[in-house]
Amino acid sequence: MSRTALVTGGTRGIGAAIARALRESGHQVVVTYQGNDKAAATFTEDTGIPARKWDVGDYAACESGIAALESEFGPVDVLVNNAGITRDCTLHKMAPEDWEAVIRTNLSSAFNMTRLVINGMRDRGFGRIIQISSINGQKGQMGQSNYSAAKAGIIGFTKAVAQENARKGVTANVVSPGYIGTDMVQSVPEEILSKIIGQIPVGRLGEAEEIGEAVAYLASDAAAFVTGSTLTINGGQYMD
Ligand code: NDP
Repeated sequence: MSRTALVTGGTRGIGAAIARALRESGHQVVVTYQGNDKAAATFTEDTGIPARKWDVGDYAACESGIAALESEFGPVDVLVNNAGITRDCTLHKMAPEDWEAVIRTNLSSAFNMTRLVINGMRDRGFGRIIQISSINGQKGQMGQSNYSAAKAGIIGFTKAVAQENARKGVTANVVSPGYIGTDMVQSVPEEILSKIIGQIPVGRLGEAEEIGEAVAYLASDAAAFVTGSTLTINGGQYMD
């Protein structure tokens, strides 16, 4: 029987590549998104993978979204917390709303989603929680104190979840990408982007598919002994 995988923010960019890789490895996949209906419709048309819309930063929305989805597709066996946003600004100019929005979408979402599937996974004796962090959560980044805090927070969260659930067949791991050529990165000004590429030993941006393959591995039976780890995929830009 195929396992059900839920990928948040799975209609575009890295999440879409993760969804495709999980389906390729035999999962029944469902994705979520927040507001871009056009991208979601195109993704579903191209792949046949259903997309459901809710704000992962809102606990009540996650609760009703997951309940509806589980009654339609069965219990979630693999959860990929991928949805994320940036609101870049140096701290001395940052508005409280920019801090809140990034923490809520990138970090509180991991609590919301994981909290709502963890008991089912524990009861069934199998689960895979995979979080998408960032190189900038590991090394910090000017202009991203909100994002760096959220992405570092994800790593601590995951280590705690890994310890709490290890005896129940549930693993929790982080994938930490470097710069990947998605909409998020394409919005970085060209001269900054070329400087960033100059700092990547491999000499190019990463491909979303390179993250998708890593997530598929962590979701597999072969990764049963991997928990609490952070898999860094950044072309050698930062070695932790
Ligand atoms: P994109 O901006 O291309 O896609 C983001 C996805 O998340 C979209 O599907 C979007 O939905 C969804 N989303 C955003 N906010 C919410 C929300 N509140 N509720 C539900 N869904 C939401 O991002 P990327 O593919 O570039 O990034 C994916 C993840 O990887 C993020 O967590 C990001 O921080 C991380 N990352 C990205 C890197 C990169 O180089 N691109 C590097 C390191 C980490 P909608 O389409 O409706 O807006």
